[in-house]
Amino acid sequence: MNWDPVRTGVLGGTFDPPHLAHLVLAAAARRALGLDRVLFVPAGVPWRKAGREVSPAAARVRMLQAAIAPLPWAALRTIEVERDGPSYSAETMETLTAGEPGDWWFILGSDALADLPHWHEPARLLAATKLALVRRPDGTERIPPEVFAALPGLEARIDPVAAPALEISSTDLRARIRDGRPTQHLLPAPVREVIDELGLYR
Ligand code: ATP
Ligand code: MG
Repeated sequence: MNWDPVRTGVLGGTFDPPHLAHLVLAAAARRALGLDRVLFVPAGVPWRKAGREVSPAAARVRMLQAAIAPLPWAALRTIEVERDGPSYSAETMETLTAGEPGDWWFILGSDALADLPHWHEPARLLAATKLALVRRPDGTERIPPEVFAALPGLEARIDPVAAPALEISSTDLRARIRDGRPTQHLLPAPVREVIDELGLYR
């Protein structure tokens, strides 16, 4: 019998589409922190991306299912797409952690950390969860000092995770698909199959 508390990482995102860097991010956090599982949480209304059209939640959920199917430690939680209105990570983490005891980390890259002070109630997020901050192994990316100034106690809530920098983004992938450029080195093949079936990003 294993009585150790379950260790869970949560990776939130728009996942429009999910790509290999998302999987590397999750795998790196899992390895570094000894996570039992990583929950992928697609955003419902991604309010920080209000300026552009986002694929329907059902399509993003299908792509994520395809992306994580081969990973026994990965699971999908549709809590944000089932909720009306904007998705706030603070609320999501409060709901998830209240439902299941254990140790929790919210996984994010350094670009997302730099944006954290502009999120909805970041102090509430930090109260609900630790952060798994995925950084380059050489630590060269710059996190603006204002981020730490804006959020007292932030540093103590961060567990750093080293992972190689990958020049992959959903934005670039959408442009590649629209332009008919190659994606197979950036996108899991089962995700590409869903994209083609649904005719996304044309
Ligand atoms: P978009 O280009 O539309 O912004 P994205 O590729 O950044 O999409 P998101 O769904 O916004 O993907 O990202 C979810 C999470 O994954 C965020 O925490 C983000 O920091 C992280 N992430 C995405 N791409 C990378 C990458 N190449 N390296 C490290 N982290 C990444
Ligand atoms: Mg992004």
